[in-house]
Amino acid sequence: MTAPAPLPSAPITQDVLTLPRKLPEGGKVNIIGLTRDQLRAALIAAGTPEKQAKMRLGQIWQWVYHFGLRDFAAMTNLAKDYRALLADHFEIALPEIVTRQISADGTRKYLLRIAGGHEVEAVYIPEENRGTLCISSQVGCTLTCSFCHTGTQKLVRNLTPAEIVGQLMVARDDLGEWPEPGAPKNETRLVSNVVLMGMGEPLYNFEGVRDAMRVVMDGEGLSLSRRRITLSTSGVVPEIARCAEEIGCLLAVSFHATTDEVRDRLVPINKRWNIETLLNALRDYPRLSNSERITFEYVMLKGVNDSDADARRLVKLIAGIPAKINLIPFNEWPGAPYERSDWERIEAFADIIYKAGYASPIRTPRGEDIMAACGQLKSATERARKSAKEIAAEAGL
Ligand code: SAH
Ligand code: SF4
Repeated sequence: MTAPAPLPSAPITQDVLTLPRKLPEGGKVNIIGLTRDQLRAALIAAGTPEKQAKMRLGQIWQWVYHFGLRDFAAMTNLAKDYRALLADHFEIALPEIVTRQISADGTRKYLLRIAGGHEVEAVYIPEENRGTLCISSQVGCTLTCSFCHTGTQKLVRNLTPAEIVGQLMVARDDLGEWPEPGAPKNETRLVSNVVLMGMGEPLYNFEGVRDAMRVVMDGEGLSLSRRRITLSTSGVVPEIARCAEEIGCLLAVSFHATTDEVRDRLVPINKRWNIETLLNALRDYPRLSNSERITFEYVMLKGVNDSDADARRLVKLIAGIPAKINLIPFNEWPGAPYERSDWERIEAFADIIYKAGYASPIRTPRGEDIMAACGQLKSATERARKSAKEIAAEAGL
């Protein structure tokens, strides 16, 4: 493995987009993010005959999620007066893109405004023949992981399913990914994978995330397979089995330490559910969700959790769990109380894990020049923040 190439010095572009935006209007129901059952009930309540509701739902979903249409009047396979009825009762409302930044490496970071004037971020990472969209599940985070920028921002609220699904849709808008009706099927999707690794703890917004993912995974919805969705949790143990049973996506866990003493400091939720309790819940996940393996995320912090002894303890701890270990070089942010481990240290750590029989990829930081890398997201405009002193105190520094 070689050290990552220094970032090219191409200019960073930042522009304010003026994408057409539909403001929520009084009393209308937003179609985006409603589950099948919810939308079916809403269509019937608006006057759709019960017998037709299933078919109408399929037609509407195809326009909205397959073709990206925002206007009921253009849904040409529906009768004109039915289109008018839909327009009277429903709207198709998405978060608004406030700014879009494009990194020298092609990563795109979107700052999105949602109801209440709050802001969240989503990041698109283009890769060869695929692309991953990293989405947020909450505004801020109630947890206070001491190495995470989002953790310095107090929780404002959970995102609604519409706001979660909407992040995918605005990214597809921006990438121009909606097919024209009648166009040949294009199998290579720009947004081919979704990771719930943006702002927030997804398992603390369980219902919102679950309902959003049901729309994303539905063949008539955004149609991404559950194996292309990875949910990352800091370790909310009671919700892990539920995640397997009710969502069934891939799971990543923010492990980050090999002793309770260090994990208590890095990921304070460990004080509630410690390493042993977490590992027991993880052991059952692959069987319950019928997925192959769990990703253990491990942030590399200089002198804190990056020794050879840590690497050896890690492989011992996870023995018997089908796993891949994703090493994340620490991404710095202003005022962060840690440093990134040296590259040689990261490689030595990866080597021990690899020799123990686990894949141990080192995550190349993407979009660092626009503060889009893991753990750097934070809405600059949220006023409720913690001071550097509070962060250090919580980290026990
Ligand atoms: N809240 C969820 C998901 C979001 S964070 C969770 O904690 O799992 C996505 C990943 O980035 C997590 O593993 C998180 O611990 C890690 N991360 C947070 N801050 C980071 C930073 N500054 N550098 C590198 N990784 C970081
Ligand atoms: Fe929240 Fe995840 Fe950041 Fe921890 S790492 S503060 S759980 S967003």
